[in-house]
Amino acid sequence: MNWSYAKNIVTGLVSLVQGMQVTITTMLSPSPTVEWPRETASLPARFRGHIMLVADGSTGFARCIACGSCVRACPSNCIEVRGEKPEGAKKKSPTLFQLDFTKCSLCGLCVESCPVEALAYSRDYALAGAERKVYSSMDLLAGLGTPFSEQCHEF
Ligand code: SF4
Ligand code: SF4
Repeated sequence: MNWSYAKNIVTGLVSLVQGMQVTITTMLSPSPTVEWPRETASLPARFRGHIMLVADGSTGFARCIACGSCVRACPSNCIEVRGEKPEGAKKKSPTLFQLDFTKCSLCGLCVESCPVEALAYSRDYALAGAERKVYSSMDLLAGLGTPFSEQCHEF
C-alpha cells in the first residue's frame, strides 16, 4: 500500500472526528435563541428600552412637573412636554408628553436631568409596527393618570 495514501486516509478520519465533535457539542449545548413571542428574553438589569414616565406611588399620577429640563437636555430634540398647574396645586403637571423614538439614541441625558426622577427606561424590547408615526409620536402619558384626567391608572 502507498504510505502517503494511508496517511491521507488517517488525517481525513481524524479531521472528520474533530468536526463531528464540534457539531455534537454545539447541538447538545443550550440554545441562546428565544422563540419569541411564545418565549420572552431575559433582559440584563441595565437594559434600556424607550424612556417612560414614572408614576407617583401615592397618587398614581405621572411624577413629572413639566419643568422642561429633559427637553433642554435632549440632544436629538425628541421630547415635547406641555404642562399646566391644576387648580389649587403648587406644581405643574403634564398635559402632553410626547417622544419621537425614531430619533432617540437612548443616551439617557433626559433621565439624568430630571429633578424629580420622573423618567425611567422601559423594559419594552419588542417594538414593531407597520407605521412610523406610532414611534415618532409616542404618547408617554397614555395609561397614566394625571390631575387633568378622570381616570387613574393602577400600578
Ligand atoms: S435618551 Fe437621549 S436622545 Fe433619547 S429622549 Fe432622552 S435625551 Fe433624547
Ligand atoms: S425633566 Fe422630569 S419633571 Fe421635567 S419635564 Fe422632564 S420628565 Fe417632567
